[in-house]
Amino acid sequence: MSRPTFRFAPSPNGRLHLGHAYSALLNARIAGRLGGRLLLRIEDIDPGRCRPEFVDGILADLDWLGLTFEASVRRQSEHLSDYAAARDRLAADGLTYPCFCSRGQIGADIAAREARGEGRARDPDGAPLYPGTCRGLSPEERRARIARGEPHTWRLDMEAALRTRTDPPVIRRFSPDDGAQETVAADPARWGDAVIARRDVPASYHLSVVWDDAVQGITHVVRGQDLEAATDLHALLQSLLDLPAPAYHHHALIRTESGEKLAKSKGSEALADLRARGATAGEVRAMLGF
Ligand code: GLU
Repeated sequence: MSRPTFRFAPSPNGRLHLGHAYSALLNARIAGRLGGRLLLRIEDIDPGRCRPEFVDGILADLDWLGLTFEASVRRQSEHLSDYAAARDRLAADGLTYPCFCSRGQIGADIAAREARGEGRARDPDGAPLYPGTCRGLSPEERRARIARGEPHTWRLDMEAALRTRTDPPVIRRFSPDDGAQETVAADPARWGDAVIARRDVPASYHLSVVWDDAVQGITHVVRGQDLEAATDLHALLQSLLDLPAPAYHHHALIRTESGEKLAKSKGSEALADLRARGATAGEVRAMLGF
């Protein structure tokens, strides 16, 4: 059997906070326990939000925490053509469609549906499900609008995708204590027609993450519970693209004293700030139980 392979996969759209440190340290601890190796991946496909200085900051923070990673760092922005090929394969299989809706239009369509008492369904992140506006466009209209250069995302046609599966997708979970595994059923339908490729980039998080976990030979994914529901969609994409699926452990999130989730967007204190205020890496590790 190949060596268990773990990864820490931060997005350089801000500075790392305690939640990231916990996730990275937990990956390292479980990898050590199961005799595995740990890789680093920089998830920088979002050109609007990712910045090189955040990458430098991430590398400095991880080094400060005493974490080391094997092999070279994979940067997603260097592999966009791979994601485009995966996107095109799903399109060739008739499992995706181009969606020309703007955010505003989706919002208006959803409001109209809700006013009629239809379409109140939400995805696991709480966002209303896409109402399917572009699903029924004719092949001619799609071709013409793409030829005109109309911006579009690509959405998975969830019903069509599920129809191609004889067995529903499953997720393997593993115990962080001894690696013991169990299999549970995935429920990707709750994501509706999810975006698998953005307007500006030939992938979304969901597509690039399953592709890279496969390419990097990841056998064990350790990440926060905020991504647990997304694993249902990942299981389906892995199955549609014939990609190997890792086993998963979703850890509890580190919260503020008032119970709120830490987030870059909320300005949660960055590791770099703790460091600047004189905290040592040992203190941060101890605070997080390492
Ligand atoms: N890049 C994601 C983040 O920073 C994590 C993705 C993953 O672990 O699957 O939240």
